[in-house]
Amino acid sequence: MESGRRSYESFWKQALKDIAEDISDQEFSTWFRGIEYVSGSDTQIALSVPSSFIKDQISQRYLPKIEEKLAELAGHELSVKFSIQKKSASRTTHEEPKAGAKAEEASTRKRQHPQLNKEYTFERFIIGESNSFAANASLAISKNPGTGYNPCLIYGGVGLGKTHLVQAIGNSVYREFPDLKVAYVTVETFANEFILSIQKKTGHQFKNKYRLVDVLLIDDIQFLEGKEGTQEELFHTFNALYDANKQMVFTSDRPVSDIRSLSDRLRSRFERGLNVDLQPPNYETRIAILNRKVEEKKVKIPDEVVELICRNINTNVRDLEKALTKLIAYAELVNKHITLEIAHQQLKDFFAQPSQKNITIELIQKIVSEYFGLTYKDLRGKRRTKAVAFPRQVAMYLSRELTEYSTTEVGGEFGGRDHTTVMHACQKIEDRMKIDPNIEPTLQSLVKRIKENNA
Ligand code: ADP
Ligand code: MG
Repeated sequence: MESGRRSYESFWKQALKDIAEDISDQEFSTWFRGIEYVSGSDTQIALSVPSSFIKDQISQRYLPKIEEKLAELAGHELSVKFSIQKKSASRTTHEEPKAGAKAEEASTRKRQHPQLNKEYTFERFIIGESNSFAANASLAISKNPGTGYNPCLIYGGVGLGKTHLVQAIGNSVYREFPDLKVAYVTVETFANEFILSIQKKTGHQFKNKYRLVDVLLIDDIQFLEGKEGTQEELFHTFNALYDANKQMVFTSDRPVSDIRSLSDRLRSRFERGLNVDLQPPNYETRIAILNRKVEEKKVKIPDEVVELICRNINTNVRDLEKALTKLIAYAELVNKHITLEIAHQQLKDFFAQPSQKNITIELIQKIVSEYFGLTYKDLRGKRRTKAVAFPRQVAMYLSRELTEYSTTEVGGEFGGRDHTTVMHACQKIEDRMKIDPNIEPTLQSLVKRIKENNA
């Protein structure tokens, strides 16, 4: 019945409006924007959604709520059935490409995106507790680029999967949305290209390269530290893309608030969207990841060896991979099966407990200067500019906290400074910690790095 059809559709529309009021705009547009009404009957409403991922997510998160709203409106129970929409070939233009052109597009898309590593896919990314927030956000973005979490910033320590995830978004969008232009670049490359474009007076080309894309992926934005011109350029690129509703995803090895000498306007833009963090994987996730790597490399490794590695290496995934690679190389070279004994013997350097080795002041100076974008010499040197004063105080403070050296010895390692200078520096840091909530996380993150690098 025609009138019946209309009323079911209007129930659905009203239910949508109610839900939109209950949840955030971002959530709504991520999950609900792409839903289409298909049909309705006395018992069921049929809807179609853009992908099975969205279907699963909606079913898990919102189905009871949706059915409850519908029951309220209809006065009786109505179940909801989802089907998956066929992908439209074009999202940005309304013109349907010709069949020939479509086929051609599809076949060209089997090729690999030139800037992306084909190994970095969602299929190869193991999701565990430590990374599920970042991984699910990345998945959602890849299904609906530009509509929900925009911009998105993924941050976390080295080797935890930032590059893998951001490239997985790129690979997936490149494959699934043939008409969308995807660009991936590290901040270092972006900065180099920018400088080159000034030298060669090809600024226009450079701007077009990054402002005329649908999905821009920028890796390692912590390296924007101290690069003012590049920051300025990225700021304008950001605005152009943001205004055009284009998707942007950034990665960083630390929270944006910890990136020093970043312009406030750029900082506030990075913080505008969704910020998700990656944590080191727990034991179970490490086992799952390592088992997958063993499978991918098509080698035979006893379970007890996998367990040994995962028990002893808890820093990050890259270190797990390194240990595995070393074992496999050894086994191949000497033509032996990998046993527990061989693993123990070959991996003893990997397993060395960082705390067993004494931390040196030199290591602290290296890590701290790198973190603040200074040179090691600056930190040890005589200059007293503001830019070095605070990092130097931090390094002195950490030298007192993490080593057994006296204030006199510490002073000696910092360009022969007096022990009172060291005491003063430690006092300064302690005072600042009381008033500035950013200091402690910074110190913690530095301590973590120092310990990791002391292995
Ligand atoms: P980051 O960019 O954070 O330093 P990467 O993305 O380069 O780290 O990851 C380091 C290595 O670990 C890569 O080879 C990547 O494929 C792998 N890796 C990280 N996390 C996972 C995961 N959850 N599942 C499978 N492989 C992972
Ligand atoms: Mg990386």
